[in-house]
Amino acid sequence: MSLSDISVRLGRAVEAAGRPTGSVKLIAISKVQPLGRVRAVLESGHRIFGENRVQEAGEKWPDFKAEFDPADRAARETAQPGKIELHLVGPLQSNKLNRALELFDAIHSLDRDSLARKLSKAVQSRGSCPEIFIQVNTGREAQKSGIDPDFLDAFVETCQRSYDLPIRGLMVIPPVDDAPETHFRQLADLARRNGLDGLSMGMSGDFETAIACGATHVRVGSAIFGARKTGP
Ligand SMILES: *Cc1c(COP(=O)(O)O)cnc(C)c1O
Repeated sequence: MSLSDISVRLGRAVEAAGRPTGSVKLIAISKVQPLGRVRAVLESGHRIFGENRVQEAGEKWPDFKAEFDPADRAARETAQPGKIELHLVGPLQSNKLNRALELFDAIHSLDRDSLARKLSKAVQSRGSCPEIFIQVNTGREAQKSGIDPDFLDAFVETCQRSYDLPIRGLMVIPPVDDAPETHFRQLADLARRNGLDGLSMGMSGDFETAIACGATHVRVGSAIFGARKTGP
């Protein structure tokens, strides 16, 4: 597999779902990958990437941005393929919040009130806000982050009303042993009910299913870059 294979499959899935071309964003998840593989994907022109750890992102992306981002505004506006867009898809600890806001254009893992409150304050003092997705634990797995679906509506309302946070959409990581489609459909229902249209769902093994269920953001790692080393 490679980026171009995945782009082709993504395009076919979008078309098969009867959805408009360009309605699904492909986030290339580069965590743990050798820098050479990431560089090759950057050189091919892809600009949307995701990481699951703030510290790891901070070690590689400032250099890539310095190298690949067009230097000034005029160049940015005319440049093909444009500026790097970085998405945080893994858990966010409060003490890494400010670093995360320096690095990331989108956060997919808002999962608790205390983080929403701190995010709101930080966003106000910075005067800019990343795209925010609320992670939902549709599988109700004890060890997994994410808001319990029963509490989601109230949490969305608190984020919007009390914290004045613009919520782009919802994100899910289905339980490994379940058919993902049930979880994708549930996430889409939860989003619709809350008036949200962003759906961050689908990974290497199931992004086409996610697109059929309405995904607007798919997070694909190993199918683009190759298998990750899973530690010693
Ligand atoms: C690693 C990761 C992905 C990508 O997983 P692949 O199976 O390699 O495509 C997607 N989403 C999250 C939250 C991840 O941590």
